[in-house]
Amino acid sequence: MTSTDDGEAPRLGTLRPRLPSPVQELVDRRFERRGVRLLLKRDDLIHPELIGNKWRKLAPNLAAADGRAVVTFGGAYSNHLRATAAAGRLLGIPTVGVVRGEELADRPLNPSLARCTADGMRLHFVDRTAYRRKSDPRALAAILRAADAEEAYVVPEGGSNAAAVRGCQALGTELRDRADVVAVACGTGGTLAGLAAGLAPGQRALGIPVLKGGFLTAEVSTLQQQAFGGSRGTWDLDDRFHFGGYARVPEELDAFATDFEHRHGLPVERLYVAKLLYGLVTLAAEDAFPPGTTVAAVITGRPFP
Ligand SMILES: *Cc1c(COP(=O)(O)O)cnc(C)c1O
Repeated sequence: MTSTDDGEAPRLGTLRPRLPSPVQELVDRRFERRGVRLLLKRDDLIHPELIGNKWRKLAPNLAAADGRAVVTFGGAYSNHLRATAAAGRLLGIPTVGVVRGEELADRPLNPSLARCTADGMRLHFVDRTAYRRKSDPRALAAILRAADAEEAYVVPEGGSNAAAVRGCQALGTELRDRADVVAVACGTGGTLAGLAAGLAPGQRALGIPVLKGGFLTAEVSTLQQQAFGGSRGTWDLDDRFHFGGYARVPEELDAFATDFEHRHGLPVERLYVAKLLYGLVTLAAEDAFPPGTTVAAVITGRPFP
């Protein structure tokens, strides 16, 4: 990543990311008895505050912002908003977070948003209708004006733009020829889009959407088109493990994650990683992976707080 001496561009290199992130083998009899080897790609260890795919997606955007303020978008529990705020503090870049939900402005901040403001992010709350329209350039311009962020570098919701997708390609190249299937939980799909592009021919990426709606195939294709000019790699999605939608963590999922933590001593982030691991355990039980398959699960995050 760029690190300049003139003090203008953000000094990303000084943050010392742990890249390539470690790969660990996990012995779990739910996989072992099906003849499946499970690896963990520990992107959660890349940086203590710019965690996982958030580092991979933000780094190229912070370089492009070149010291300008950064404005981005997210919900009340957005990992992306927290990562952007942390990056701002670490690099001395002003950050503005446009938060979905006008009603939140009058309430005490939840721990996630409180962390954002503690890291120096200025929050601007917008109603859900306006928030939904932000992909329209005029609606976006109005939001930026109201947020006093017209000069800022815009990073889209979830951080997934072409630069971010290209940043996630390294996740794939780091896993070249190490696994047959590489699985990742998906929000916007940017990480999957880049990952698939970085894998070797013969490897396959599997996305587990955490949002309900089945719109992600089109989104991932669009992101690959924008980032690479066409589709790349082999990837597909299994839409069965969203548990009702974003940030829905029913008792069954929570119990699964707690049990996984006890078995393996791995802290399991609930909004994404728990759904990924649940999906993989289910697929193994269904014999969806032929014996001899090596599956790598990308651990994209860590529980908050
Ligand atoms: C943001 C996030 C994701 C989703 O990444 P996308 O590129 O939006 O699909 C996955 N896991 C964790 C832990 C995240 O914070």
